[in-house]
Amino acid sequence: MLYKIIPKNDLKLFVEGLLNDYKVVGPKKAGKHHVFGDISNYEDIDLNYNMTMLPPKKYFLPQRETLFTYSLGNIQEVRETTKVDTPVIIFGLHSCDIKGIEMLDYVFTNKYIDNYYTERRKKNIIIGIDCEPSDTCFCKSMDADQVDRGFDIFLVNLGDRFLARINTSMGDYLLNIYTKIPYYRYLTSVDDPHKDIAAYKEKIQEHSEKFVLDVETAELADLMDLSYESRVWEDTAKACFGCGGCSFVCPTCYCFNVMDDIELTMTQGHRDRQWDSCLLTDFAKVAGGHNFRKDRATRLKLRYYHKQKGFVEMYGRPACVGCGRCIIFCPAKINKVEVLKMIVGEVKV
Ligand code: SF4
Ligand code: SF4
Repeated sequence: MLYKIIPKNDLKLFVEGLLNDYKVVGPKKAGKHHVFGDISNYEDIDLNYNMTMLPPKKYFLPQRETLFTYSLGNIQEVRETTKVDTPVIIFGLHSCDIKGIEMLDYVFTNKYIDNYYTERRKKNIIIGIDCEPSDTCFCKSMDADQVDRGFDIFLVNLGDRFLARINTSMGDYLLNIYTKIPYYRYLTSVDDPHKDIAAYKEKIQEHSEKFVLDVETAELADLMDLSYESRVWEDTAKACFGCGGCSFVCPTCYCFNVMDDIELTMTQGHRDRQWDSCLLTDFAKVAGGHNFRKDRATRLKLRYYHKQKGFVEMYGRPACVGCGRCIIFCPAKINKVEVLKMIVGEVKV
């Protein structure tokens, strides 16, 4: 990792430089909430945000996409990803969302490589920024409050300046080209870096102390197993609408459905995929009308179980980054932390 100090006033210059040469997306205000969207001017960006409604996964795994089109007897792949010629800069991501992308990378770029996802990932540049925990954030409990990889540049706000953590040669290149900081002026090469290093340490400490929401996760994977028959699932499912909203806003949920759309002439069609949710009634419905998870409590349990137990077994960490989106946007006001607290015994069932 390399480090540079960027005076706060230079951020505008930096972003405007990027806008000249790249497509940039970032957090924007949209009514009461924020969304990641296209940035045309520096003023479009609102870095004073807690959480966007949809996570950045939409840039790698679109809500719906055509995988290929076909005509009878002659299958032709239309590789949507080849259309992404220009690198896209995703600006202003918080650490939980950067960690969320890492979870998706485990799934789509590891044992089974998903070309559509992987091609988009290769063409993205990630510039992160630190944040202030809100009363629905529990990323610290899910080990996602700090990141040391998964970004090109990560900006830490030190008041009148940013400490830029530079993790890739692309990040270094962008700062050299689009700021006035001399290319050789890394933090460790300046005469007196102590003030900035002390400010950075203080910032990390302050950030860590600001969390109001947390849950003990040390034994959670085991406790998920032990709670398989718990009444927590039935009780929580009584409130759940089965709308699937929690999956759609989740940065680590990646299930999708695949559908064929064939023309009436039966000569050509296309195959699409679309986000799906294990909370939806038909998620486990198969041919013949059999449904493996007919009741809502089973589906709700599956979501928690997959995130806190199954994913841990496969990849060594939970598929939750504690972003709090599922808490904020659940119409039934189901709070994931409260459910987990019942599982770990911090709250009586
Ligand atoms: S968003 Fe809430 S109500 Fe909708 S499926 Fe998820 S837990 Fe149930
Ligand atoms: S489960 Fe909820 S808190 Fe965890 S990553 Fe998904 S949306 Fe965020």
